[in-house]
Amino acid sequence: MADQYDVIVLGSGPGGYVAAIRAAQLGLKTAIVERELLGGICLNWGCIPTKALLRSAEVFNNMKHAASYGLAADNIRADLEAVVKRSRGVAKQLNQGVTHLMKKNKITVHMGTGVLKSATSVEVTGEKGTETISAKHVIVATGARARELPFAKADGNRVWTYRHAMTPKELPAKLLVIGSGAIGIEFASFYNDMGAEVTVVEMMDRVVPVEDADVSAFLEKALTKQGLKILTGAGVESLAVGANGVKAKIKAKDGKVVEGDYSHVIVAVGIVPNTENIGLEALGVKAERGIIAIDGYGRTNVKGLWAIGDVTPGPWLAHKASHEGVIAAEAIAAELGNKDVHPHPMDRANIPGCTYCHPQIASVGLTEAKAKEAGYTVKAGTFPFIGNGKAIALGEPEGFIKTVFDAKTGELLGAHMIGAEVTEMIQGFVVGKTLETTEAELMHTVFAHPTMSEAMHESVLAAYGRALHI
Ligand SMILES: Cc1cc2nc3c(=O)[nH]c(=O)nc-3n(C[C@H](O)[C@H](O)[C@H](O)COP(=O)(O)OP(=O)(O)OC[C@H]3O[C@@H](n4cnc5c(N)ncnc54)[C@H](O)[C@@H]3O)c2cc1C
Repeated sequence: MADQYDVIVLGSGPGGYVAAIRAAQLGLKTAIVERELLGGICLNWGCIPTKALLRSAEVFNNMKHAASYGLAADNIRADLEAVVKRSRGVAKQLNQGVTHLMKKNKITVHMGTGVLKSATSVEVTGEKGTETISAKHVIVATGARARELPFAKADGNRVWTYRHAMTPKELPAKLLVIGSGAIGIEFASFYNDMGAEVTVVEMMDRVVPVEDADVSAFLEKALTKQGLKILTGAGVESLAVGANGVKAKIKAKDGKVVEGDYSHVIVAVGIVPNTENIGLEALGVKAERGIIAIDGYGRTNVKGLWAIGDVTPGPWLAHKASHEGVIAAEAIAAELGNKDVHPHPMDRANIPGCTYCHPQIASVGLTEAKAKEAGYTVKAGTFPFIGNGKAIALGEPEGFIKTVFDAKTGELLGAHMIGAEVTEMIQGFVVGKTLETTEAELMHTVFAHPTMSEAMHESVLAAYGRALHI
């Protein structure tokens, strides 16, 4: 069978659709296969709709604090149905945007479920029947889904995954969130701001356990002050789902099992890659616990077959998926003879992570503890937003910025932030880290005044005992 395409991308999330656009830009005849919605989890059921919900919660929260800005706002209340409607509208707008981008770049869209028949052919079953399409290269970008608890399947009624939590019919009176990674803590923050009574259970000894320990400690305090109940070092042993609620048995840090009644439960205990039943086993594709092994460019061990995004080793983030998509498309173009592309392998040390709870969290690179574990002699500096004029003017003095350097060379190893708008600010450090910056360039950089980003500068100065405003 002659190849119909140069590249087929299986799955149209931020990994897949970006890979397809880059391949098309490079003159490759490209097709994309999608079984549900163009744009994947990220813009239909992940990053974007959650940020729309969180924005409503933020505005609501600001309105509740109107008096502290010298303003009056009476009879403030939330209309949950309208909040969800706005979020779904935002997701729909972006889904339509991806449809437009596919047309603009002349990418053929095959709607249906794809299964690999060989490393270079895909059988697609959709509403119009079954067809087999082939290409010189295939990129697997089928993403992931929520991991479920073995003892309590999500029913969408009382026990929710993120999909249910994004489209609630009613505000939970008493919500239990299992897991305090980014997804769990964002929903905990959203529902708390909307007025629910929220408890978070985390097995590890601190919330957002991948972040720097100082950030975890600050967040736990901030959330507790907002009224959330946080149980760390604790595990949910069982859930008994009834018509009106859920009884949870939780083993606390001290080993005691306590029973609690909740109206709803959100299970946010990680993700499972969508790598079963798509033909990978028959092709002998190397994978560990369903996660496909790749090289720095996205090549699997099977010639012609590539993988990107949530089906490959983490972090499982949209921007990592997109970046891998660009690299894989360029590497394929190079293999097909394009001498003008020179892709660089993925550098996992420079992938930022953002959590949009209240207060926000953002980080890149090594935590202080990980840097020490890796054998570095560390210089770390912290600067609190209470020492920043703009933060005080905005009424957002909560939080800090911490930077971690190699004491020997001055290389920036990591940056960790908690506070308002830090998810926008982290990019300054990501650029610096990608350019392999040291404390010298960062100290020499002029930061605009008044901005919250001046706290970035101050944290670098603090690492060297030179902070000015504290
Ligand atoms: C609630 C939530 C919030 C999140 N927030 C953020 C955030 O703020 N920032 C961030 O960076 N990341 C966030 N993420 C993670 C982010 O959504 C994922 O990392 C990202 O979507 C992964 O992209 P992907 O292209 O690998 O796969 P996906 O986005 O999962 O897309 C895979 C696509 O493949 C399709 N597919 C699967 N199997 C087949 C098949 N056999 N045939 C055809 N099509 C198939 C699926 O329908 C899907 O559309 C969030 C995730 C969730 C759940």
